[in-house]
Amino acid sequence: MKGILVVLDGMGDLPSRQLNDKTPLESAEMPNLNFLAARGEMGLMHPVKLGFVPESDEAIVSIFGNRQIDSTRGQLEARGADLKLTRGDLAFRVNFATIDSMEEGNIIDRRAGRTLTTEEAKELSKSLNKINMSVKFVFKPTIQHRAALVFKGGFSDNISGNDSIYTKGKSIQEDKVKYCKPLDEDENSQYSANIANEFIEKAYEVLDRHPVNQERRKKGLLPANYLMIRGAGIEVPKLKIYRKWASVAYMPLEIGFAKMSGMTVYSFDYPPLKGLDAYQNLHDGLKKACDFAEKTINKIKGNFDYVYVHIKETDLPGHDNKPIEKKLMFEYIDKTLFKFIRRFAPPNKIKVVVIGDHSTPCKLKRHSADPVPVLFYNDSELKEKHFSEAEAAKGKLGVISGNDLLRKVGFDK
Ligand code: ZN
Ligand code: ZN
Repeated sequence: MKGILVVLDGMGDLPSRQLNDKTPLESAEMPNLNFLAARGEMGLMHPVKLGFVPESDEAIVSIFGNRQIDSTRGQLEARGADLKLTRGDLAFRVNFATIDSMEEGNIIDRRAGRTLTTEEAKELSKSLNKINMSVKFVFKPTIQHRAALVFKGGFSDNISGNDSIYTKGKSIQEDKVKYCKPLDEDENSQYSANIANEFIEKAYEVLDRHPVNQERRKKGLLPANYLMIRGAGIEVPKLKIYRKWASVAYMPLEIGFAKMSGMTVYSFDYPPLKGLDAYQNLHDGLKKACDFAEKTINKIKGNFDYVYVHIKETDLPGHDNKPIEKKLMFEYIDKTLFKFIRRFAPPNKIKVVVIGDHSTPCKLKRHSADPVPVLFYNDSELKEKHFSEAEAAKGKLGVISGNDLLRKVGFDK
């Protein structure tokens, strides 16, 4: 093995008052990451380009050297969720969300309070799959509030989703639900948008009065009564192929991306969300992910040149404005996964790259265009360093674009 690439989702942040005006990365105790940083180079990276606010799919597509491709999200999510697609099938990424009512259309929570259990999501999905539509479709819940939706047939994907939060590199957060709209004059785009809107309205009828949601209301929880869909896609995204790579991934998007990039994917089943504590579930997931990454790297290190490990949990405290949680997650990953990776330091000749796919600053509660720190361990001369946004800004690697990262660090396909 020649290299390990670790992506900590949403890693970059801004100073936070709860952390004495430090970022989560700056205030975290990370002896192992700092060990690697002290023997390498740091820099900053614009995952897509300067000023662009990326969604995870746009970021990762760019970091693996692909030019910008529209409409990858739904396709990657659906393929990562193991749905079989044929050309023309229209795939979306879906969130179970909460709105006050279809008439008012106010978004209360984009993730139904992050308390939707795996069992509840399954129950709701059973009912959703019985909706009467003029076209065939499949709805599949994945992890927590996430799901994939596919309409079977010959559709257009040149339509918007029904949430405005991330569109083509800008983040505009509005708290009103939207309709899916055709983005061109094509009749099929109008038709495709109509089908999506019809499904969303019918889904609301089913979900709002569903026994699962009545039960949730009784417990004082937000009902998962609305579907937010995005990332319409009808074609297999044509991505660069990385045959010498293995990937440790467990979220549908990252699994789909790694598969479509020709990597061998190693995955595990995410622990089901059972109780009300979404963060307990995240910690369980993070623990499982770090353990699994370690075991997998040990097992396959003779078989592949590179390993790409994607850790998702670190993105979520940013969305929820929980800087202390985020800091604790970095500390946990440091003392588990990076303690293990550190063992590959000399005499082994393995290079290690640690990046975020984008910044998710706690105080903004969403992705931002702030560049992410890059750590490139290459066993160079020893310097005293802490892996953080501010230190990375002074680093030897300079400011790079996501598209150039793998070339700069010498990781090939
Ligand atoms: Zn991300
Ligand atoms: Zn995010």
